[in-house]
Amino acid sequence: MRFASLGSGSRGNGTLISQGDTTLLVDCGFSAKEAEKRLQQMGHTAADLTAIVVTHEHADHISGVRVLARKYQLPVYATAGTAGCLAADVADYIHEFSCHEQFEIDDIEVSPFPVPHDAREPSQFVFGNGKVKVGLLTDVGSITPVIEQALSGCQALLLEANHDLTMLDNGDYPDHLKYRVSGKMGHLNNVQSSSLLKKIDTSQLQHIMAMHLSEKNNHPDIVTTAFSEALNCQQDWIGIADQALGFTWRDIT
Ligand SMILES: [Zn+2]
Ligand SMILES: [Zn+2]
Repeated sequence: MRFASLGSGSRGNGTLISQGDTTLLVDCGFSAKEAEKRLQQMGHTAADLTAIVVTHEHADHISGVRVLARKYQLPVYATAGTAGCLAADVADYIHEFSCHEQFEIDDIEVSPFPVPHDAREPSQFVFGNGKVKVGLLTDVGSITPVIEQALSGCQALLLEANHDLTMLDNGDYPDHLKYRVSGKMGHLNNVQSSSLLKKIDTSQLQHIMAMHLSEKNNHPDIVTTAFSEALNCQQDWIGIADQALGFTWRDIT
């Protein structure tokens, strides 16, 4: 099983999960044209995709979904709440799923779980092949027991580290945005993400990638320090998903 990122952050997200001939694009917050370009840089084309899986309806996760789905006839997997927010002309492509039920897309097992975030029916995922699991968690304001259980024992974690609380406090965001970002339905700060890493079973972890970093309210060095302390590992083992470049394919063995 392998995974890659087309880019991660408030200006667009897209994650690739691949097993055998099955490749899923989780979210497409880039224009279809931009996503096609970024896919090509990863050695893929949109025509190779098996499906698009959508976490929630915020623009940084769905901007390119409509055009990409229609152009390449791709099924779009979304919860009923998220699907209701997508353009009417993608309705024919929608496969609704429940946040509480595992399902399969060809070679990949998809285990969704609900998360607290200010969207209609947001979901995050664990993707598996029967042997190894990749956990994805971004756009989450607070950690729940469901999240802890879902992400325990994964071989790879793609985990939001959105902001450093002090940088957010001292930054120039208007107050309402500071409250939204740091609220229970907002985004995870570095301390929350690090606490999660300390709490769950990471004994099988082969890859840890920090996701959805704020370009204004966080810095990769702070995240690297926090995550390496939480996992008691070397700093160079911590990966950071870049807004412009994402990260290239990583294999789980
Ligand atoms: Zn987002
Ligand atoms: Zn969001």
